[in-house]
Amino acid sequence: MLSFLPDFIFDAVTQISPSFLRARGVALLLLDFDNTLLPYTENAPSRALLAWIEELQSFGIKLCIVSNSHKERVPQFCRKYAIDCVTHAAKPGTKGVNKAISQFKVSKTQTALAGDQIYTDILAAKRAGITAIAVKSIHNHTILLKLRHLLELPFLAMARNRRVKI
Ligand SMILES: [Mg+2]
Repeated sequence: MLSFLPDFIFDAVTQISPSFLRARGVALLLLDFDNTLLPYTENAPSRALLAWIEELQSFGIKLCIVSNSHKERVPQFCRKYAIDCVTHAAKPGTKGVNKAISQFKVSKTQTALAGDQIYTDILAAKRAGITAIAVKSIHNHTILLKLRHLLELPFLAMARNRRVKI
């Protein structure tokens, strides 16, 4: 049960500030891709997203995308913006998360994962023993995504005191 509870909840990934991460000793931030950074239907990042990525990097926080996606758009994005990337991550398994962490000289206590799905991102982070940050999905545009979100609501409610507002 506890594995489904995020350590922190943000309204959007871009609200996770460098100072918030630094204060908690996070040196490596793993990022889900679909519906966390970009909607499923969009390949071009917003200016706000790019500015946020640059800001984190300028504070020396390492970033690595860890995505279950098999689609070319994820490595394409990572190449274009020079961000490290693990695809086919098979979250909620921990293989992809551990592979990503092993590429950096950081410990698990210095690593967090931010993602929009409780049953994949949060569960993978908790099982891997790293900080789990839930962010709101950018856009649940299909019925299946909406239904999945309904199933996530109990855990988001249980963790509501962990919401970080800016
Ligand atoms: Mg996602």
